[in-house]
Amino acid sequence: MSNSNVLDYLNDPSPRTLGRSPLEWLERLHKPTVVHVTGRDPSRTRAMATLLHGNEPSGLFALHRWLLEQHTPEVNMLFLLGGVYPAKIPPMLSLRQPPGGLDLNRCFKEPFEGREGAIAQAILAELQKVQPECLLDVHNTSGTGPAFAVTITNDAAHQALTSLFTDRLIMTDLRLGALMEYSEQEVPTVTIECGGGQDEKAHQLAYEGLVRYTSRPDVLSLEEAEWDVEVLRNPIRVELAPEATIEYRLEPTGHADLTFPPDIEHRNFGIVSPDEPLGWIGHKGLSMLTAISHNRTENMEQVLRVEDGQIYPAQAIKAFMITTNPVIAKSDCLFYAVKATGEPIF
Ligand SMILES: [Zn+2]
Repeated sequence: MSNSNVLDYLNDPSPRTLGRSPLEWLERLHKPTVVHVTGRDPSRTRAMATLLHGNEPSGLFALHRWLLEQHTPEVNMLFLLGGVYPAKIPPMLSLRQPPGGLDLNRCFKEPFEGREGAIAQAILAELQKVQPECLLDVHNTSGTGPAFAVTITNDAAHQALTSLFTDRLIMTDLRLGALMEYSEQEVPTVTIECGGGQDEKAHQLAYEGLVRYTSRPDVLSLEEAEWDVEVLRNPIRVELAPEATIEYRLEPTGHADLTFPPDIEHRNFGIVSPDEPLGWIGHKGLSMLTAISHNRTENMEQVLRVEDGQIYPAQAIKAFMITTNPVIAKSDCLFYAVKATGEPIF
């Protein structure tokens, strides 16, 4: 299948074609869409993907606003709007992926199966054609919480890209078929998690980061960085057993296998010391939880311990992507964690 069957193309779109709001613009899009904007130096290109997940709108909102304002970027810009199909399913911007479809951000690898695989392959072909000097993939987190970046490569260029948006970079050796693995093509690539998809602050951050990304002569040098970047290496994932139940309450009812306080999200990126309780465990104990590292080793003793029905960190940890959405907590993971120093727990 040729790319033009899979993707639509917009070149230097005029404000009149964009609709007054991002939702109006989305109504006018019919396929995953590539947007080219000509820069002052047309010999270079930077790329930004967004909306790979249809319910993560900050990048779309930022791009719509930026296009309406008719900025001239420093270099050519290539924007890739991936999840137009799930985003357009009513109510708009509510679905991560189409019903029965695949998670697009797990499809950037062989064998490129199904409609999402074809979209991923077309996006990769677009990048190969344009040869950008760097690539961002802008997302929202499922819970609320501060922004962070994710990379598979931790060097000055990746830290510099991160610093356009945030001061935290998570480095992972895990390979899932995510677009950020494009970093392996020697093109600095980071995923930006702007914070919650309902969060006005996340939309503003995406816009401000986009303005920095497009307006600076150099985005790959740390000398230009706004702030120092803290690197957190190979976090472990703490998951809940499929049959386990979770509640978010100030006190346990005695019915759930795990109870977290409703404000647990405030723990995101803070250090939790071994004497600070995180929540309550049911009578089945820690067997309802697993702690998995990037190389699939498992070792709960180094992460959590139980005392009088309460869960504590087994050592000082930094936890993040904590969610209070029980659906996400069950289907994805409870939280990620590294040592308080940013090093892997195991
Ligand atoms: Zn996402």
